[in-house]
Amino acid sequence: MFQKILIANRGEIALRVLRACKELGIQTVVVHSTADADAMHVRLADESVCIGPPPSRDSYLNIHQIVAACEITGADAVHPGYGFLSENAKFADILAAHNITFIGPSGDHIRVMGDKIEAKRTAKRLGIPVVPGSDGAVTEEKEAKRIAAEIGYPVIIKASAGGGGRGMKVARSEADLEVALQTARSEAGAAFGDDAVYIEKYLEKPRHIEVQVFGDGAGRGVHFGERDCSLQRRHQKVWEEAPSPALNAEERAHIGGVCAKAIADLGYSGAGTIEFLYENGEFYFIEMNTRLQVEHPVTEAITGIDLVHEQIRVASGGGLSVRQEDIRFQGHAIECRINAEDPRTFTPSPGTITHFHTPGGLGIRVDSGVYSGYKIPPYYDSLIGKLIVHGRNRVECMMRLRRALDEFVVDGIKTTLPLFRDLVGNADIANGEYDIHWLEKYLATED
Ligand code: ADP
Repeated sequence: MFQKILIANRGEIALRVLRACKELGIQTVVVHSTADADAMHVRLADESVCIGPPPSRDSYLNIHQIVAACEITGADAVHPGYGFLSENAKFADILAAHNITFIGPSGDHIRVMGDKIEAKRTAKRLGIPVVPGSDGAVTEEKEAKRIAAEIGYPVIIKASAGGGGRGMKVARSEADLEVALQTARSEAGAAFGDDAVYIEKYLEKPRHIEVQVFGDGAGRGVHFGERDCSLQRRHQKVWEEAPSPALNAEERAHIGGVCAKAIADLGYSGAGTIEFLYENGEFYFIEMNTRLQVEHPVTEAITGIDLVHEQIRVASGGGLSVRQEDIRFQGHAIECRINAEDPRTFTPSPGTITHFHTPGGLGIRVDSGVYSGYKIPPYYDSLIGKLIVHGRNRVECMMRLRRALDEFVVDGIKTTLPLFRDLVGNADIANGEYDIHWLEKYLATED
């Protein structure tokens, strides 16, 4: 087991990882920018190293400084959290070259999944169902037209290097295709420095359903069920739940089994999430994330398993603590991402939190690094906390969520709490009847 883990992140996830390390009796080092000197995880860590000024590129993305912090403190492993360097293959390779363990998959697996064309090809080879479309990159208009005619309109053109919902264009007919192809290519080139694009069938009303997987790196793979993350705004997840209200037990076992086998065959190590669009009873792979996800606590709630413990175990060579048959799903969990944003316009609302009071009671978990008197710096994302609620079934979970939202107090800044108070009382949400466009339509009619 590791002696000392360096946490290369900030905010709620840095605290989340720190808690797991403390439970496992592992020493902790955190790195932070000058803007985060007062952060909760910095106060609670055994050691902290200031690695630079506020901009991420000079601090949380500064590989050189982070490796130096490992050497100075003698950390033998790095947990990257999510975002920042968590899916940076070069970072994983550099750490390996310094004999420091990256708590995550190999650089090669990160690289394959980071290139969407390659990821889709790999998924297909491993027996994972994918969205019908081109086999690889498409450059010629003639070829694009042939493929689009074959799969049928509408189609979507996506950047191979894409991320964060950028670099996608929908073409509803052949007349749109030429412009869509050209704009997608030039936007991809400008945004990602790589203009490779591919075509796939555009699904009109899918849900976003993702499967949590784990590999031990030695040919074993398991799944921890799915999460439904269909409630999104601008491709950013807002509310996540497990299990999905749309799946039955057979569908769950089937897609979970397919994913676990794929992970085993790939020889993958650590946590991963295989993301699908789901429509008319069919799953269509869109991408794989090779890290811990923001929404992992809903899976922890229904399985009772600490996924960060599991990541640390696997990375240290201790293998998975569970077999597939040990993983049981109990009840229902929902996570609300509470952002420091105006709940109507979603403009960021940094500033000082004058009063912070979190709900409690059975089935309530709050993952947050903020406290009364904390000043939210304007440099980073606006997530200030996650409320995760668990109940014996979805109805109980929703009752508890409504109550917990009423108890939550964040004064001094604007937050998205009022949005969740509206959503929890909505009939479609109560019935679990929503797709990936539901929230944006709802927000548009509210205005
Ligand atoms: P990114 O890495 O940029 O997030 P994804 O491939 O994960 O890109 O897609 C992001 C979102 O774009 C999906 O959650 C979905 O809303 C939409 N999308 C992607 N592919 C399709 C498709 N084939 N049909 C319909 N919507 C799609």
